[in-house]
Amino acid sequence: MFVTGGVISGLGKGVVTASLGCLLKARGVPVTLQKIDPYLNMDAGTMNPYEHGEVFVTWDGLETDLDVGHYERFLGQNLGRANYLTTGQVYWSVIERERGGEYLGHTVQVIPHITNEIKRRVREALQTSGAEVVVVEVGGTVGDIEGLPYLEAIRQLQDELPQEDVAVVHLAYVPVLSTTGELKTKPTQHSVKELRTAGIQPDFVVARSPTELPRPLRDKIALFCDVSPDHVIACADLPSIYEVPLALREEGLDVKLLHRLGLQAQAEDLRAWEAFVAKLRTADRTTRIGIVGKYVELHDAYLSILEALHHAGAALGLGVEVAWIPSARVEQEGESALHGVSGILVPGGFGERGIEGKIAAVSYARRMRIPFFGICLGMQLAVVAFARDVLGWRNAHSTEFAPGTPYPVIDLLPDQHGVKAKGGTMRLGEYPAVLDPHSLVFSTYGRREIAERHRHRFEFNPLYFEDFASAGLKASALSPDGRLVEAVEDPRHPWFVGVQYHPEFTSRPTAPHPLFVGFLRACSSSCS
Ligand code: GLN
Repeated sequence: MFVTGGVISGLGKGVVTASLGCLLKARGVPVTLQKIDPYLNMDAGTMNPYEHGEVFVTWDGLETDLDVGHYERFLGQNLGRANYLTTGQVYWSVIERERGGEYLGHTVQVIPHITNEIKRRVREALQTSGAEVVVVEVGGTVGDIEGLPYLEAIRQLQDELPQEDVAVVHLAYVPVLSTTGELKTKPTQHSVKELRTAGIQPDFVVARSPTELPRPLRDKIALFCDVSPDHVIACADLPSIYEVPLALREEGLDVKLLHRLGLQAQAEDLRAWEAFVAKLRTADRTTRIGIVGKYVELHDAYLSILEALHHAGAALGLGVEVAWIPSARVEQEGESALHGVSGILVPGGFGERGIEGKIAAVSYARRMRIPFFGICLGMQLAVVAFARDVLGWRNAHSTEFAPGTPYPVIDLLPDQHGVKAKGGTMRLGEYPAVLDPHSLVFSTYGRREIAERHRHRFEFNPLYFEDFASAGLKASALSPDGRLVEAVEDPRHPWFVGVQYHPEFTSRPTAPHPLFVGFLRACSSSCS
């Protein structure tokens, strides 16, 4: 099943794709999801969070677009390298084969070589997962030059496979004219026309609109886009993305899709999902969490953290209000920028801008005994702040920001020295860690062995482990060989935890991450 998008980007195609996966799974159909990003980048690792939002990391170490995070959360299962594909990867494979002599004597062309590689990768996603259905989201909007080879590959697959084996869902926008309050279907009509120019007739049109879509407008879309009226699916704006599967089910989309694909439907089970959505709606208390970061004006840059906070909040019956605090503002205004929050979270990041503001936020949280959660760079800066405030090493730093510091408490891994290339050269993906049985992280996880996802180059410098331990910063999780510190905590503080990994990537709506639950529990008790 392919999901294409029309009219404008940012309609939530990733959430709709994830919702289709959620609905099919709830009907007992084994399903997997795949995102196509029509960029020449090999992965999302080198793309700017300002333009694309957070970089998500799969367990097997691929840096992907944030939609893969939505997929994992809505499906409740891990995805991997086969589930994310970019134009860069497709061309790389084809060019490698060309150099290897595989096409000797032939002219290598977009059709058939690039389109064959696209089809191969779509099939591979299905085969390696063992699923019965793969829902493939084609990034971008129809009509983009970059998207053409993908549309052509879909067209070819429709030709090659039995009719009931390929379905296309087109997501388009029905805007409201602000002057008259009228919903307009013309942009949707045009985007379907564009799709048909590429030889693809959609089976379903999902009409995203700011308000309810009245019956006559559905009929109009059906007529002009040549789809049956019951295949025009309304999808108005909702208070939470987690309500989208429920809204699409209301429209009968799950049953209609199964019918279209000739699959047997089982009785649906969305009870856990519904219970989660009900908890999101009914939280009676709220806690205010300050997220201190560089990209806070762009919330998508911290998407998984935000989602993880909501999952944990729902589990505790707690609403989460986020105060987005630019680290540069902490530098300008001082600690007053942090007043009024019940907990402070310093997320991952790169680059020097605002670093001192983040370090000041850690110091403030430690001193004022406000629950603190440091993630990746946030953990590294917790170590720096502790070195400065408690050990008295005033110019301690990470060598990422101060290569000449006399106290390089955070430094490059030995095998990272000399690495110049930027793409895919970090410590990426899932690594095991062992927890100290006498630690807060152990009692929070309730087990000794964990595996968490990483994305970083720098590490807590082993030269200083002893100094920190004797000054009271506990290394509460280590790599199995004991060489790397994966988590630190301050046992004298109510809740002060830094982790070198990214727990936010594995939090799920109905299975929140224990660290986020623990953090929020501490925040809610400290404010009452
Ligand atoms: N910049 C830091 C490093 O590379 C932290 C990375 C992160 O927070 N994801 O180690």
